[in-house]
Parts: sequence; C-alpha cells; structure tokens
Amino acid sequence: MSDTILGIDLGTTNSIVGVVDSGFPILLADDQGERIIPSVVYYPADQQDKRLVGQSALRMRCLEPERVVMSVKRLLGQRVGEISGVGTSMIQRSGDGAVNLLVGDQTVSPEQVSACILSYLKENAERRLERQVKRAVITVPAYFNDAQRNATRRAGALAGLEVVRILSEPTAAALAYGMDKLGERSKVVVYDFGGGTFDVSALEMSKGVFQVMATAGDTALGGDDIDGALADELSVMARGSDLANAQPTIRARFLDAAKRAKEQLSNASKCLVSLPFYDNGDSFEAEITREKLEEIAIPFINRTKDYCREVMDCAGFSNEDLDAVILVGGSTRMPQVRALVSDIFDREADTSQNPDEAVALGAVIQAGVISGALREMLLLDVTPLSLGIETFGGLMNVIIPRNTTIPVKRGEMFTNAAPGQRSIKISVLQGEREMARDNWRLGEIEVPCESGSKGSARVGVEFSLDADGILNVIARDTLTGKDQLLEIRDVAVDVDDDRVEEMVQESVDHAFSDMNERIWTEAKMKSEELLPAVEQALGIAGNLIDQLEREEIEAKRNVVKNALNGGSAELLREANKELDLATENLASKMVEKMLND
Ligand code: ADP
Ligand code: MG
Repeated sequence: MSDTILGIDLGTTNSIVGVVDSGFPILLADDQGERIIPSVVYYPADQQDKRLVGQSALRMRCLEPERVVMSVKRLLGQRVGEISGVGTSMIQRSGDGAVNLLVGDQTVSPEQVSACILSYLKENAERRLERQVKRAVITVPAYFNDAQRNATRRAGALAGLEVVRILSEPTAAALAYGMDKLGERSKVVVYDFGGGTFDVSALEMSKGVFQVMATAGDTALGGDDIDGALADELSVMARGSDLANAQPTIRARFLDAAKRAKEQLSNASKCLVSLPFYDNGDSFEAEITREKLEEIAIPFINRTKDYCREVMDCAGFSNEDLDAVILVGGSTRMPQVRALVSDIFDREADTSQNPDEAVALGAVIQAGVISGALREMLLLDVTPLSLGIETFGGLMNVIIPRNTTIPVKRGEMFTNAAPGQRSIKISVLQGEREMARDNWRLGEIEVPCESGSKGSARVGVEFSLDADGILNVIARDTLTGKDQLLEIRDVAVDVDDDRVEEMVQESVDHAFSDMNERIWTEAKMKSEELLPAVEQALGIAGNLIDQLEREEIEAKRNVVKNALNGGSAELLREANKELDLATENLASKMVEKMLND
C-alpha cells in the first residue's frame, strides 16, 4: 500500500487535516468532533502541564490572553515589524532580526507554534487512521515568499512531518471545487477571504492542467480585521472608548463576542450580543443588525476590489471569459462579500463547497495524487513576486518576473563594471521595485573572475525555481568555467520590516517615481561612460578636428555636466544624445588614427 500523505491547510485562523482513504478525500475530526481546528496554542504557566491546541486553547483567551498565541502564520518567516493580529506585546526581536514570541517566561518562535498546531493535526490523524504518518502536503497563501514557504517547511519538520509539497491555497481550492472537469481553456477565479489573509487568483486550464495565470492579495487583510472593528464599536457602546487601551482579558471578550455576532449575521438580519460581567460587575447587552455590521465591514471588504481587477488585468481575463468564480475562506460566507464578488465579476459565485474547507480538501487531493492514492493531475503554480539580481547603479534586473509559472529556469549574462575586478558580487533580490535597495535581499554570491578590462568578464547567472518555490542560483564565470551555487531555502530574508505584504502595493504606489529613478540612473551611467570617453578621444584625435567642432563638443560636454547636477532624467538623456552626435566625427577620426598608427 502506498505510504499515507496528509493534506493540511495550515491557516491563519483555522487549520484542517485530511487524507485520501479508500480512494476518497476525507477531512478528519478531532476528539470533539470538530474538523475546523482554530490555529491557536495555549502555553500553560507550569511547563509540565499540557499545552492546548485548537478550541480548548481558544477558550483560554478570555482567561489568560497573555498565554494564548493566535494568528502566528502572519509572523511565519517574517522579520520584525508592525504585524497586526497577534498579541503584539508578545513579539520580540532576536539578535538576527528574526521574530520570536514571549509567552509568559517562555520564548517560542513562530515555527515552534506552527509545529504545535501541526503536531496536534498529525496526532489527531494518526488516532483516526490507527497508524503513523510521516509525510504531508501543506498549503500556503499564494503570496508567501521563499522565506515564508521555508519557515512552513521547518515547522513541518519540527512536528515530525516531511513536507513533500508546498501548495498554493488557490490552486488547492480549484482542485477541491472540481474545476478540472470544466475542460480545455476554461478560466476560473479563486476569491479567498479568510481570517488573516486575502488572495485572489486567476487560473486557466490548458492541456488538462491548471495554470495559475496571476495572483494578488494582502497577507494582512481578513475577517480578523472586521472582528477588531466591530469589537471596537461594541466597546464604544459599552465602555465609551475603543479597545486600544483595554485590558487584554476585556479585549479578548469583546473580540470573541464580535466574531460570534459577525458569523451569526451571515444567516440572520440581527443578533443579540451579550457580555455578562466583562469587567467585574459591568455587563453589556445590545442588538446588532446586519446593516450595522456591513457598515463597519465595508472598508475592509472594498479593499479586495482592486486586487480582483489587478489579477484580471494581469491574467488578461475579462468577466465574459470566466467559466467560474469560486469562493474560499470563512469570510466569504458573509452575504455582503458574496454580493461584492458577483458585482465585481458579473456572475454568481460557485458555492458548491464549504468555503472554509476547500483548501484542505485540495491539499488532501494533491497528497493523494503524490502518494498514488488518486490518479495523476498536474498543477502549476506561479511566482508571487519577481526574482532578479542587482546590477550597476543599484538597479533591479528581473530574471523571473512575477506570476511566472513554476517550475522555471531562466538565465542571463552579466559583466564586470570596473576594469581589473577580481570578483563579481551577485545579489539575489525578490520584489517589484525598480531600485535594488527597495527589494528583498535573499542572498549573495561572489563569483571570482579573470581580471581584465571593463566589460571583459562574462558571468552567466541562472535561476531555477522548483515546484515548491525553492530557488537555486548558479553563477558561472564563462572564462574559467567556475561555478558558484546558492540555494535559497533556509536563508532568512534580510529586510528589517514587514515589507512583503506591501511590496506589490508599494510598487504600484511608487511606479512613477521608481521608473523615473531607473531612467535617471541609466542616463547617469551613460554620462559617466561618455564623459571620460570624450576626454580620451579629444586627447588622441583632438588635433584632427577644427576649432569650431571642438568648441561644439566642449559646449555639449558642459551641457551633460550641468544636466548631471540638475536631476532631470529627461534633460540628461537628451544631453547624452547630443554629445554622442556631436562626437561622431571625432570618434571615427580616432578610430582611423588608431588603425593607421
Ligand atoms: P484562514 O484561512 O485565515 O485560516 P478561514 O478560511 O478558516 O481562515 O476563515 C476564518 C474566518 O472566517 C474568520 O474570520 C471567521 O470569523 C470567518 N467566518 C467563519 N464563518 C463565518 C460566517 N458564517 N460568517 C462570516 N464569517 C465567518
Ligand atoms: Mg485559508
């Protein structure tokens, strides 16, 4: 019999485990009969006591909130920054800039917390299946970068699971909805609005295979935000102020009540919120209408709109082209969200699956395909952010653009910037910004090269990205044939804030200034090449041109020098062109002279 592989949706809010059993994908319930397990861990004060995971851990939030860790997925693979949704007071920065959590007097890493959740799911599955399981497919948001995917892998390893595949959530969801049965060239949009993340992806079926054509989203937008806003509103009603400065236990009570009310209001037009003794003798009770909730939720829900448009544009899809829109994530149970989605895409969404279970189901199907328990079906993923290297002048040179289908292999040739250079440093970058410094620095390799004149060295750089999104970089000096290898797997990403979720948005915000900076840098490099070359040409062949021409060249040269101080890319480019033109004759004279000498 084939070795069992678990399918796991390791969600920000909830996690689910399943397996293919007797040819059928099934999701497994825990001892309380729950399939949807809150991604919550409670660390008891006495370390001898058992840690709690899931619903029982979530219940501890109202008693000892400082010992309850939630939404840890937002921290996975991240560097220190302002990250919402997790008890922010717990966040600590370790020496190397990695994020840790201080729970009571214990320090735990996001990976360890995730491993706790994974262990719980694994043990649960083993009890149900009555056998040991060692392997799993785990899903991650499409937006997760290398560092985050790798952190997910490490969490699996800590839980005693070999992660055989990291699968993007939208891809998994499409599988679960049986979109493979739609037929050739069918186009599907996956709209995933969960507790902590929002993703939207455009998929197309080609030769019986799914391709993710584009994906966009925000790793810090979800139902939690709506809970927070509603809880603030309730707190204002009850206490006269929002929860910003409330005690953690009070905060937890209000958040809990808000979440429950929000979920009830998906099926009812009004509901009763009741908070008995939330603060010693103080109690609170109020009726909340769906209308009120919708008023509070609309800013968050509206934020998903632009991502939908972006993805459609990026994939080249139009609404008429779509064969289906599928809903994923618990927050898509809100009628308001469903209305917005059908509005955006001009069609009713497919609601044939439970939106909060679809990702897990897809992970189970993929696990079944890998283990051989289900027939082969291939899935292709795309790169969430562009990958490239830093080139002269601090520019980002993209090698694998964002939204490229993986696995993929691409290469380019580079040369030395300065004569006599003994080595070329290759900085591997991830991101959408034009300037290297604004992108993530994933790693660096130094390639020794034969020293020679400027531009004489030839270094080939090849990026290959495998199906799990692990990047291998090979840099080769073509003269010596020497290779340098870099595997970006466990490398912590060297960025001091939580830029990743804002990267795409930032690149849009800065598109114009970024582009201007790129044009300026390129023009400046051109001038820096041109000026000494003109100097040299005048030295060699200056006596072969007449005074007028020489004055003309000198004037044009001054224009370039002035433009260099001016800061206008347009003017500098123009000045370069003029100088280039003015020196054409001089250049040919120089070549002539050098040939005759
Ligand atoms: P994640 O993928 O982030 O782990 P899920 O897909 O499990 O999250 O979605 C969890 C979110 O869905 C929570 O914010 C939860 O409040 C919300 N949710 C669950 N059921 C409902 C419902 N009936 N109505 C509105 N929101 C819901
Ligand atoms: Mg999810």
